[in-house]
Amino acid sequence: MTQVRVGQATDVGRRRQKNDDTALVDDRLFAVADGMGGYSGGEIASFTAIEALRAAFRRAPTADGLERGVTEANQAVAERASTDPDLSQMGTTLSAVAIVENGNDEVVVVAHVGDSRVYLLRDGELTQLTDDHTVPEEMKRAGQLTEAEAAVDPRRHMLTRVLGPRYENGPDMQTLIPYRGDRLVLCSDGLYGELTDNDIASVLRKTLDPNDAAARLVELANQAGGGDNITVVVVDVVDDDDRAAHASARLADDPPAAASRHGLMTADERNAQLRELSREDDRVAPSSWSDDDSPPAELDRARRLTARVVLFILAVLVVVGGAVGATAWYARASYFVGLDQGHVAIFKGRPGGVLIFDPTVVQTTDLTQAAVPAARASDVERGHEVASLGAARAYVENLRKDSLVVSSTTSTVPSTTPTSVAP
Ligand code: MG
Repeated sequence: MTQVRVGQATDVGRRRQKNDDTALVDDRLFAVADGMGGYSGGEIASFTAIEALRAAFRRAPTADGLERGVTEANQAVAERASTDPDLSQMGTTLSAVAIVENGNDEVVVVAHVGDSRVYLLRDGELTQLTDDHTVPEEMKRAGQLTEAEAAVDPRRHMLTRVLGPRYENGPDMQTLIPYRGDRLVLCSDGLYGELTDNDIASVLRKTLDPNDAAARLVELANQAGGGDNITVVVVDVVDDDDRAAHASARLADDPPAAASRHGLMTADERNAQLRELSREDDRVAPSSWSDDDSPPAELDRARRLTARVVLFILAVLVVVGGAVGATAWYARASYFVGLDQGHVAIFKGRPGGVLIFDPTVVQTTDLTQAAVPAARASDVERGHEVASLGAARAYVENLRKDSLVVSSTTSTVPSTTPTSVAP
């Protein structure tokens, strides 16, 4: 049975009068809701949603039960809003993580509406699992804004989807396989509004106790300004039924098959590829130089030049050659992980190439572009640069682990029309 240790912390921040966030830490269900709307609407909305979700999931602790729980949470908020004109505009975000049975195994299911976030820290690398349902982030996903533009867009607090009277779509749902050492983090925007993902990852890597980690993150967000309520729930997977150990053992017992499963070449396959490459070299080798007895015209002309001119040309060639060599070294000295015909591939070179030096494919994996986690998609599309082939393979492995999303459905309808504005 998957075992977890959980920590949580919440704070009103330094500028707000009250805390509209509500956190939930139940046996197998964890959630953060960030309410909004009127004097008391925010806290009522987030609390109402969390309580309805908790009750629904207790009745049906499954993935479907979690999704229905979000729907029931929305109904509860909408009904409460309809009873009081002062609460008519209230709404709330809701991001929830549940551990549910899946056949003989267990999976983590994430349900999400709004701009609170769920992160996963796995093997030291932080990934944002959820999409922010805000105007600039929806526009970024639709290709209408760059990441840099979205980050500073003044509409970044305008939400496109929240629970409440104007709720239209169901939650974004995704499922992933938990491994021992995974650290799931749920938070309201008061955390990432003050701290970068690198700041957050740094704390999560260094602070082992989940309560200490949550408290430290809230403390740092306050130190950075505390402009909004801050809520953090940290869920550590401390036992995964030896799922990770079994996966490693399979790799050790059956290296060729395991290598294929992970999109890597076996030694035999690599040798066959090298043999094929050497045959291609043989076909290319017979050139005009070896087959043609007469010297090239350029060389013939060069012989007519005076010794001084030849020396001058040689000097120029040395300088130019050095520059070309240095450029070639720069262009070819690194690797990157990018896309090759719809598949994740490892390239030698720089993304987009440098002058005449185009990158070359070292290895194409079986990981498709569609399977790349959304949070890494733009990084991979641009080409994620690393210093070595080993680092590239490690990055691909991390992508692969993060893409162990056994099912993923979203009902996002990109919209540029805000339905609610965060306080
Ligand atoms: Mg907030």
